[in-house]
Amino acid sequence: MANSPIVAQIETKNWIDGEWTKGKGNTITVKNPSDLSETVGEITLSTVDQASIAADAAHAALTTWKDITGNERGQYLYAMANALEKHHEELATLASKEMGKPFGEMKGEVTRGIQLLRYYASEGVRSDGDVIPSAAKNVLQYTKRAPLGVIALITPWNFPVAIPIWKLAPALICGNTVLWKPAENGSLTAYKLCTIFEEAGLPKGVLNLIIGKGREIGTFLTEKADIKGLSFTGSTSTGLSLAEVCAKRNIKYQTEMGGKNAAVVLNDADLQKSLPPIISGAFRSAGQKCTATSRIIVEEGIYDQFIDALKEEMENVKLGHALEAGSYLGPVASLEQFKKMNRYIALAQKEAEIVYESKDQTTYDGYYIKPLVATGVSSNHALFQEETFGPLAVIIKVKDYDEAIDILNDTDYGLSASIFTNDLHRAHRFLDDAEIGMVRVNQETAGVEYQAPFGGMKQSSSHTREQGQAALDFYSIIKTCAVHYG
Ligand code: ADP
Repeated sequence: MANSPIVAQIETKNWIDGEWTKGKGNTITVKNPSDLSETVGEITLSTVDQASIAADAAHAALTTWKDITGNERGQYLYAMANALEKHHEELATLASKEMGKPFGEMKGEVTRGIQLLRYYASEGVRSDGDVIPSAAKNVLQYTKRAPLGVIALITPWNFPVAIPIWKLAPALICGNTVLWKPAENGSLTAYKLCTIFEEAGLPKGVLNLIIGKGREIGTFLTEKADIKGLSFTGSTSTGLSLAEVCAKRNIKYQTEMGGKNAAVVLNDADLQKSLPPIISGAFRSAGQKCTATSRIIVEEGIYDQFIDALKEEMENVKLGHALEAGSYLGPVASLEQFKKMNRYIALAQKEAEIVYESKDQTTYDGYYIKPLVATGVSSNHALFQEETFGPLAVIIKVKDYDEAIDILNDTDYGLSASIFTNDLHRAHRFLDDAEIGMVRVNQETAGVEYQAPFGGMKQSSSHTREQGQAALDFYSIIKTCAVHYG
């Protein structure tokens, strides 16, 4: 086991108007997906009337929060980052236990949260507009950002720390107040994160946490609460239906949804350098990233070599308890994920040709899925089209670059893709030809830098972007000001 702090079992509470209140709904016992004999804590769901109180609190807090300077809001974000740094390992341990992400990766995710808070804290003192020459004499014309108001955040379980922070940090620095509903199976981590943020002394009602079910609390926030913005990350089906509601209510929204991301390997690729990022993109976090590599498209001239090198490299993908030192691949996060992945594995075993299947055994009773690489299906097969969200990658052989691009783009999704080549001409063509939001050369499909915009094309997003400066555009509205001083 990793040398990490012991985390006592915890019970969730809502954080509403600076007070901790227990939900009034059902209670769910959370078991560690790495070891189901361990109880991690209890989640108590909330009712719509509790979410309604949170919405009122966020409105009440708005007047003061948007009126203080960006610099002052930034100081709160710095304090949040410092508090998170203090509880870094404790939070990472809890999150690993709640959703099975290997501890090393989870620590990296908390580090990302700290970086995001500091990045957006500093936005409090950066330029928030442009001076635009006026056609008239003696007129100062300029733009400035105004907050939207109360924002609802609906977040998933696969990055239980980084995704909420990459939404709430820019939302807060822009002067909005927040209602946050985390995924049910990220709720222990969300609760713990808010107890850490409480140490930063945020004014009450600025950030409100409501633990609950998507269908109940998420629906209330989107359909009934007086919100001015919604930022959602999750499945495509939920995202599309929330977008419809927001469009009808004229609420600004962004939805980050699924992906079916591909790595394209050309004949001239350096396999020694290409395999580690391809394998990492496919199997880190048990393939449960929206940017995970699930399709591998290989040019025929290098195909046989690629398969041999892949089999060798896959021996490094060790399956194990998320808190075990050196564990590359933990369990999948939940029983739902486990059942879904077993269906895809069975489909691959029935209809595809297995290239690699791990022989790893764990002594733990958990939601372990052995990493699997398959081939021998056509590009319109379910395994090549549907987002599986687990440790399964499917390879297709193509005759040349043009066929690779056709297959790459022949999907509903457009989140991320990589090409592995040393041909500068092809690499640049790929960046143009791919109908993909995050396009990369000789790098894994997963992996996002917080200071750069993140988002997909086609059905992967609402065509907005998160993180970097793009997040400021989402969480604010631009006012155009003109002053006549003649
Ligand atoms: P996933 O398949 O990744 O769990 P979901 O779209 O089901 O994706 O969930 C992502 C987030 O959306 C979670 O916080 C979940 O509770 C919430 N959610 C699910 N269904 C709804 C819904 N009908 N309305 C609002 N939020 C929802």
